Amino acid sequence: MRSICILGSTGSIGENTLDVVARHPDLYRVCALTANTQIEKLAKQCFKFHPDIAVVKDAELAKQLKNLLGDLKTEVLYGSSGLIAAVMHESVNTVMAAIVGAAGLLPTLQAAKAGKRILLANKEALVMAGPIFMDAVEKSGAELLPIDSEHNAIYQCLPQSQSSNKLNYPAYGVEELLLTASGGPFLRRAIETLDSVTPDEACAHPNWLMGRKISVDSATMMNKGLELIEAMWLFRVPENKIQIVIHPQSVIHSLVRYIDGSLLAQLGEPDMRTPIAYGLGWPHRIDSGVKKLDMMTLKDLNFMAADVNRYPAILLAREAARLKGTSPAILNAANEVALEYFLQKSIKYTQIIQVVDQVLQTVASQTATSLESILDADQLARTKAVNILQGLRS
Ligand code: NAD
Ligand code: MG
Repeated sequence: MRSICILGSTGSIGENTLDVVARHPDLYRVCALTANTQIEKLAKQCFKFHPDIAVVKDAELAKQLKNLLGDLKTEVLYGSSGLIAAVMHESVNTVMAAIVGAAGLLPTLQAAKAGKRILLANKEALVMAGPIFMDAVEKSGAELLPIDSEHNAIYQCLPQSQSSNKLNYPAYGVEELLLTASGGPFLRRAIETLDSVTPDEACAHPNWLMGRKISVDSATMMNKGLELIEAMWLFRVPENKIQIVIHPQSVIHSLVRYIDGSLLAQLGEPDMRTPIAYGLGWPHRIDSGVKKLDMMTLKDLNFMAADVNRYPAILLAREAARLKGTSPAILNAANEVALEYFLQKSIKYTQIIQVVDQVLQTVASQTATSLESILDADQLARTKAVNILQGLRS
């Protein structure tokens, strides 16, 4: 029996995880659920899954959640200590890391240190703290399974003979990784008109239904940039061995090229329940509820290079990936702050990446030897981004 903690259970990945879990009551038990502020949704999940622990943002929300739960025997905790307690609960052996952004780093890292099975959706945690995170995984013997659809696809296309946390692919004849990207909602929109797109337009992803942050990241393709850095750490390949390919249909979720001329791909419906079920069931396969991909209905599968004039975020992410150290954390922090300003309609869409660029060029990269150095860089980049953004607003 796998006993699960879902960090970010009220989000898109969180809800999809509960959907898969509910199909297998004999295999999984929900031990802890965490949310930020959506307490009504969290309360409904608690009534359905009876977790031991539920975590919310602060004491006031915890009080409100307790009232909603009435007699239910779920302990309500809050804040970062609550998230850590949820991960560390003695019966939890599997942690779905599905908090969005840097907020997920500490509890996810804690799960790595504690040697749990980690289903990693929260790519920002790995982008920020790649070497420290992977080091923790190696030392504790934690199982790290990628949930991001591209990384999950690559994982499935790599040799399965190794344990999940000892990835040494050059030895297996891997030449390069190919990350596919849909191109988002603005793939064909005239570049000169991108200045005027609204948050709702940017969040209207053609193929995937996701949270607002990752949806905007998919439009700018910063998502693919973050995924490139995520793949570097997960699979221990250098930046120049990862290609980004636009594939608007989102049927092929990513590929691995081998030195013998083979190109292995994973295909499926664009539904996150497939990678989630893979992570939950590994090394076995379980039913995910995802409808079968009907090859007969596939008309065209198209592929093209990403135009960096349309998607300058890719250049910035590659730069941060090459610089390593605290650069990926700086890139990520600046992006989170600028994207939030865009969602609040305080800046234009095109200014998101301009701000990230300015922050990356002005906040010096340091060697990332400790978690503190990463958190310092994150804070510095946020402060710098806010300064620039305030200037743009006035
Ligand atoms: P979402 O916005 O739908 O959900 C985010 C969850 O995190 C919610 O439960 C929210 O309560 C919680 N949360 C937000 N801020 C928090 C904070 N400060 N402290 C504690 N909890 C907080 O996001 P999502 O689309 O589910 O994405 C979650 C993660 O998974 C992201 O890192 C994203 O990049 C990754 N991911 C998502 C998808 C997808 O299809 N949605 C695909 C691949 C990867
Ligand atoms: Mg992805």
